[in-house]
Amino acid sequence: MSALSNKVAIITGASSGIGYATAKLFAREGANVVVAARRKPELDALVDEITQAGGHAVALAGDVRDETFAEALVKLAIGRFGGLDVAFNNAGTTGEMGATPDVPLSEWEETIRTNLTSAFLGAKYQLPAMLDRNGGSLIFTSTFVGYTVGLPGMAAYAASKAGLIGLTQSLASEFGAKGVRVNALLPGGTDTPMGRAFANTPEALAFVQSLHALKRMASPDEIAKSALYLASDASSFTTGTALLADGGVSINRT
Ligand code: NAP
Repeated sequence: MSALSNKVAIITGASSGIGYATAKLFAREGANVVVAARRKPELDALVDEITQAGGHAVALAGDVRDETFAEALVKLAIGRFGGLDVAFNNAGTTGEMGATPDVPLSEWEETIRTNLTSAFLGAKYQLPAMLDRNGGSLIFTSTFVGYTVGLPGMAAYAASKAGLIGLTQSLASEFGAKGVRVNALLPGGTDTPMGRAFANTPEALAFVQSLHALKRMASPDEIAKSALYLASDASSFTTGTALLADGGVSINRT
């Protein structure tokens, strides 16, 4: 039996990078997946890929900052696949980076809304659906930035992603007795459009790689495997954690 047989999973940020790879892996492991992001053509291509491989997927394009979108995703999971067991709230943005005194309030607020408020909105609608199934696994994509490592020019990103760890702990405590596990996944530098924005020259790539003990960035597929661990019964006694899958960037000093 596959790790997610008969499970229904929502995956946000699925048009690209870590979310795209995770949607394919979850579907390969037997899950019926609801994939979400703003770019519809990318989502449609993902659904085609999953369907052609024998899996089951449906897409909904929208913005994770909108409460109506969070609600619509859960309704789609229930309407199309009968319920909800797993939610990988993964959509994110670095927002505008730069010296903090130069960051407009509107930019700060947009980054917080995209990375943190979206997670609250997702959980608000996903949790009741999971409780209807007597349990589930809720996962938020955080990062080492703002948790084990401080980086300049990333205040809103770090604050929003650290906020996800507080949200994780609170929800894990609130819903553990009801069978819902809640965890944060903290990737290291990952070879996605977001990761490549930091490593956009050979020199910058070498620098980013050197920050990691493993001396390389992750592939999106490697992070997807950590998401699968948190989604599946392999992590049945794991809740409230900040799971580093960071190639040792947090402990490396050379
Ligand atoms: P990516 O390839 O740029 O993917 C970001 C995803 O988020 C896209 O699918 C994007 O889709 C979606 N998204 C962004 N804003 C959205 C919005 N307002 N509404 C709906 N969807 C939205 O980057 P990635 O590296 O896979 O990032 C995935 C997550 O991992 C992020 O939360 C990121 O912070 C985290 N992370 C990444 C790294 C890294 O080095 N790459 C390291 C640690 C943590 P649309 O543009 O189509 O909406």
